[in-house]
Amino acid sequence: MSDEDKGGRTGDQAGGSARAGVEKLGFESRAIHAGYEPDPTTGAVIPPIYATSTYLQDGVGGLRGGYEYSRSGNPTRTALEECIAALEDGDHGFAFASGLAAEDTLLRSVCRPGDHVVIPNDAYGGTYRLFDRVETPWGLAHTPAPVSDPEAVAAAIRPGETRIVWVETPTNPLLNIADIPELARIAHDAGALLVVDNTFASPYLQQPLTLGADAVVHSTTKYCGGHSDVVGGALVVREGDLAEKIRYHQNAIGGVAGPFDSWLVLRGLRTLALRMERHCDNAEAVVAFLSEHPGVSEVVYPGLSSHPGHEVASRQMKRYGGIVSFRVAAGEQKALEVCGATKLWTLGESLGGVESLIEHPGRMTHASVAGTDLEVPSDLIRLSVGIETVDDLVADLDRALS
Ligand SMILES: *Cc1c(COP(=O)(O)O)cnc(C)c1O
Repeated sequence: MSDEDKGGRTGDQAGGSARAGVEKLGFESRAIHAGYEPDPTTGAVIPPIYATSTYLQDGVGGLRGGYEYSRSGNPTRTALEECIAALEDGDHGFAFASGLAAEDTLLRSVCRPGDHVVIPNDAYGGTYRLFDRVETPWGLAHTPAPVSDPEAVAAAIRPGETRIVWVETPTNPLLNIADIPELARIAHDAGALLVVDNTFASPYLQQPLTLGADAVVHSTTKYCGGHSDVVGGALVVREGDLAEKIRYHQNAIGGVAGPFDSWLVLRGLRTLALRMERHCDNAEAVVAFLSEHPGVSEVVYPGLSSHPGHEVASRQMKRYGGIVSFRVAAGEQKALEVCGATKLWTLGESLGGVESLIEHPGRMTHASVAGTDLEVPSDLIRLSVGIETVDDLVADLDRALS
């Protein structure tokens, strides 16, 4: 069979092992051991970076471990794919060059021109652009709906046409929460799949497949990689037809993660649990500080009982994550000044790395939605709380606010 006719790697290693082999181990053990056994020839404890495009065949078609060509499969990428599948309690993981490459591959694996998708009305900007500028001209229609309102999501479904209900939870930057089991029921009743972009929570805080979702999307650029040194994406699904379609399209479209990038994301996953605990500890301390500060008019964090998604988040998330948004009482100008006045908090986009970031969504990540329904308050600041010494983080914010 030529590379053009099949999906990715063939052979036993190509599937089924992620949940079966390590399902009894805890999350931290899976993060460190799933997907890789010490190399049989050298004993190397850590997976090598297999910088190779092609593989020796033992006679025509005699593949070792199913490896034939590195777009179809590469052992470093396999180690990452099996590890992230184990962390999401899925059967099959697929690693991509970016979160958006993962999204596009999923959409074209499931949808055809003429189909319809429900998307979050506050989707990540790049996701919205993918739907609006790339998938729409290709023939895939979409309707935005608020993920925190199941009735509105149900009303946006077009019976017979909607293939996917796509949600993020928590969303960016207002941290709206989608009730995953409820939306899974709504999607499945309509014959659609529920896809959850789990980037903000990470698999440590939330495992959508266990709550009824059909596919999980990650920008591994964020918490999974965790060190702001790599761009990557992933999909995770359970056994079945969807896995086969994704495997085929991953290879046929070709937006795969390279071995170096796979290695960095895998290294990030090893410490995901520790990092997420510290991100959450620090975020809670920052929330406590901001909630008492007279210069702050509102703090947005799903861990606060005042947050409209608090109850749902408490049911489906282990803790509430490392992203905090807040509004500056004195208005936009002061918010911009605060963003420019911190020293330890780096002014920049992205999120989920060990270092703390501060940004003004209205002028930065969400500038493109100004003037639309999705416009965010102009006095809003978003924090990606890192894992530095929390007293230093609070002191720096205190200085910038005064
Ligand atoms: C960053 C991000 C993406 C896109 O991922 P890239 O790796 O930048 O392509 C998708 N969804 C969410 C929630 C993100 O934060």
